Amino acid sequence: MHYQLRFYPYKRNFKQPLKTSYGIWDTREGIILQLTNETGKTGLGEIASLSWFGSETLSEALDFCRQLPKEITAETIFSIPDNLPTCRFGFESAWENIQPVNHKKQPNSPNFYSGLLPGGDAALEVWQQLFQAGYRTFKWKIGVSKIPNELKIFKTLVKVLPSEIKLRLDANGGLTFEQAKQWLQICEEIKIIEFIEQPLPVEQFEEMLNLSDRYSIPIALDESVANLRQMQQYYQQGWPGIFVIKPAIFGSRSQLRSFCQNHTIDAVFSSVFETKIGRKAALQLATELQPNLLKNRAFGFGVTHWFDEAE
Ligand code: MG
Repeated sequence: MHYQLRFYPYKRNFKQPLKTSYGIWDTREGIILQLTNETGKTGLGEIASLSWFGSETLSEALDFCRQLPKEITAETIFSIPDNLPTCRFGFESAWENIQPVNHKKQPNSPNFYSGLLPGGDAALEVWQQLFQAGYRTFKWKIGVSKIPNELKIFKTLVKVLPSEIKLRLDANGGLTFEQAKQWLQICEEIKIIEFIEQPLPVEQFEEMLNLSDRYSIPIALDESVANLRQMQQYYQQGWPGIFVIKPAIFGSRSQLRSFCQNHTIDAVFSSVFETKIGRKAALQLATELQPNLLKNRAFGFGVTHWFDEAE
């Protein structure tokens, strides 16, 4: 079977810029793929590169698309190398969308999703809107401004949040070992904390192991596991905590499937601010694989309120 390939770069702005410990992110760029088979059936896929997170760059992805012939085969797709993980995900998604498979329906209640709060004290307002919309899990970025300031907002936030809420903290690798200890120590006293994500930079895996030994608050690896290969590596090294799986940058869907079917891990599926095409592809896979995971954690896809339209 041959597939005709078309691809379109896209650009869209965040409603308000997203502040993380990397800096400010205000435009999401990527590529939409369209495959058409010999009977005229089409399937869409999305390449949502995130190079500062460890994937190929958008221009590497574009170069890859441009050098392909106008017609490709499944073999072309299943031989996309590991160093182009977002391309691999995008092409496999488009290909799967043409195959006669029965995708499980993705959950549509906000209850199944973790809603991303804005950084700083804006979180104190926004959680209420998300709560009213039905969210019961929130995520808040830390390591963005000075610790005393963040701790002050954090203490106010946990005081006002209802006890049924779960709160995730994401440091994006922005803390020092001492700061991470400080955060974990404080979180030990607070019942609604679900986990702390990537407290330390990727190079400090041993230190994160050390932290996960010392404290009962679970630690999630995110930046450390930017793709399936890295997750396999830390799994082999005995990581006892949670893995954040961002399907869109993880690489091969079929290989991720096979890994989750053969290993029992504690993981959270999460968005990279894809358009609705990549989002659907990622959520279909997440919904399919969730029953294989150790715990039923909310999907980190509660981000549509960061864009004007769910495009
Ligand atoms: Mg994260």
